[in-house]
Amino acid sequence: MRYAIGVGANRGDRQATIAAARAQLIDGITLIASSTSHETVPVGGPLGQDCYLNAVWIIDTQLGPHQLLHRLQTIETALGRTRTVKWGPRTLDLDLLLRADGLRIASGVLTLPHPRLHERPFVLQPLAEVLAHLR
Ligand code: AMP
Repeated sequence: MRYAIGVGANRGDRQATIAAARAQLIDGITLIASSTSHETVPVGGPLGQDCYLNAVWIIDTQLGPHQLLHRLQTIETALGRTRTVKWGPRTLDLDLLLRADGLRIASGVLTLPHPRLHERPFVLQPLAEVLAHLR
């Protein structure tokens, strides 16, 4: 199954963090396409945060959506994400945006498509670059 994943980083060497995260797409996850990195001003959260680098990846995997979310969270943790302030700065944020077949989920831990996808230019712009790969 094909999925779109939203990637964001706003602490440390953001490009290196995103590259390191991409290198962890292994063991049953195949990267199909990656957007360019977009530098964006943080939306919400505390004032004075650094800008984000955002990107969108298209991947193929046989993992189910909850398994995939778990893998993304493992990568976030491995790269030092600390959850302190909600919507505060983060080393790495990986969001499951949507599955290409339009699967809808509203479980306690996972909502698909991502509930704020449509209102976030910092996701929609990189998504537009790789949209052709979702067909
Ligand atoms: P965030 O702070 O954006 O990384 O939010 C992470 C939390 O959102 C996790 O506890 C997930 O269980 C939950 N969540 C719900 N839907 C999604 C989704 N589509 N992608 C990523 N996290 C999700």
